[in-house]
Amino acid sequence: MKRVCILGSTGSVGRQAIEVVRERGFQLTGVCADRNIALLEEQIREFHPAFCAVRDPAAAEELRIKVSDTDTRVLSGEEGVLTLCRECPADITENSLLGSGGIRPTVALLEAGKDIAMANKEPVVAAGEIILQKAKENVARILPVDSEHSAIFQCLSGSFNSRKYLSHLVLTASGGPFFGKKREELERVTPAMALAHPVWNMGQKISIDSATLLNKGLELIEAVRLFDVPADRVEITVHRQSIVHSMATFVDGSTIAQMGHPDMRHCIQFALTYPDRTEGLCTPLDFSQKMTLTFESADEDTFTLLRTARKAALLGGTFTTVLNAANEACVSLFLKEKISFLDIFRIVEEEVEGHRDLRTQDVEEVLALDSEVKARVFEKYTH
Ligand code: MG
Repeated sequence: MKRVCILGSTGSVGRQAIEVVRERGFQLTGVCADRNIALLEEQIREFHPAFCAVRDPAAAEELRIKVSDTDTRVLSGEEGVLTLCRECPADITENSLLGSGGIRPTVALLEAGKDIAMANKEPVVAAGEIILQKAKENVARILPVDSEHSAIFQCLSGSFNSRKYLSHLVLTASGGPFFGKKREELERVTPAMALAHPVWNMGQKISIDSATLLNKGLELIEAVRLFDVPADRVEITVHRQSIVHSMATFVDGSTIAQMGHPDMRHCIQFALTYPDRTEGLCTPLDFSQKMTLTFESADEDTFTLLRTARKAALLGGTFTTVLNAANEACVSLFLKEKISFLDIFRIVEEEVEGHRDLRTQDVEEVLALDSEVKARVFEKYTH
């Protein structure tokens, strides 16, 4: 039976991963969250994992008392999360942590030689070169869970579709809740408006990123890193129906697309069951029903962060660290109504423009830069 550990098990993707584990009858060996101990307790009582890590030390202490009648070992704080990464027995660990908080756990997992189902895109963006190097050194696999990258991974599987014949990748974008809007109309966007995503069921951070389209920018960088293609060979197309999850075009002009209903559980299950496919929670598309698929170019004059992300991807190094850190700080400030929606565009662009590459392969230096950029942005805009 496959042993699965889930980091971020109380978040949106984490809860969907729990559904997959339950449906497939996998053995859940570890769970981990920041502080939602009510849900962690439910997960412990249902699945009896060997390990549980809680990032908030006070919450960890509270949970330890609540589940003292079980055999689950409750670990506490950042150090507890890293211990879980190293010691929890797992054939695959899903990383659905939030933001750059997932960097150290990712490194710990890879150094322990563990395969990762990667739902946490920020570590790949902020510290991708280092992370991929660690994966290579420790012969550990990073299987994408993000729907676009899961699609590309599937499109590139098999000898006919191998990397050596690849011309370029095509990332599909839903266009977000403000598709078709012009810059002036974005001035008065509120957090509530930006959180209402038309298609995907997602957490707050990624919903705001989808509204600014930087989510697609982060995914472009993720694709560059995971599939080792130059940024100018990743095209972005707006596909409102979210049925085609991304595509690969080969040197002979043939394009392979991966299709399905927009449901994260498909991508999670694919990563957890790889290299097998199994029946699951998702129904296939019904081609007897009339269906229209549309593709059009993204409006980069309005959603300028797409250009900023492409630029950071081409420059590489720590430019993507800065892009990600500035964006994480801005999303948090926007949700607290400290800055406007368009301020996110302006501040992230300024931070990337003002950066000089650190030329480092040291993950601690990358984390220090991440904290420095966030502190500067918070300091400037928290009044
Ligand atoms: Mg995605």
